[in-house]
Amino acid sequence: MPLYEYECRDCGRRFEKLVSFREAKSAQECPGCGSRSARKLMSVVASIRKEEGGASSCPTCTSGVCNL
Ligand SMILES: [Zn+2]
Repeated sequence: MPLYEYECRDCGRRFEKLVSFREAKSAQECPGCGSRSARKLMSVVASIRKEEGGASSCPTCTSGVCNL
């Protein structure tokens, strides 16, 4: 399954999520505030390590919430 990056419209949190192609088209739930208004970003996979705010995006997990 592809890894997509999302950004929450409500709290601005970014997170990555492994979703099926079908799921990718629907809104994803934000792990920070629970809102389902997160939108898919154009950047996929390769840009993850370059994103600033690394404290909230863990390169070793797909959820981005473990904060290692
Ligand atoms: Zn949120």
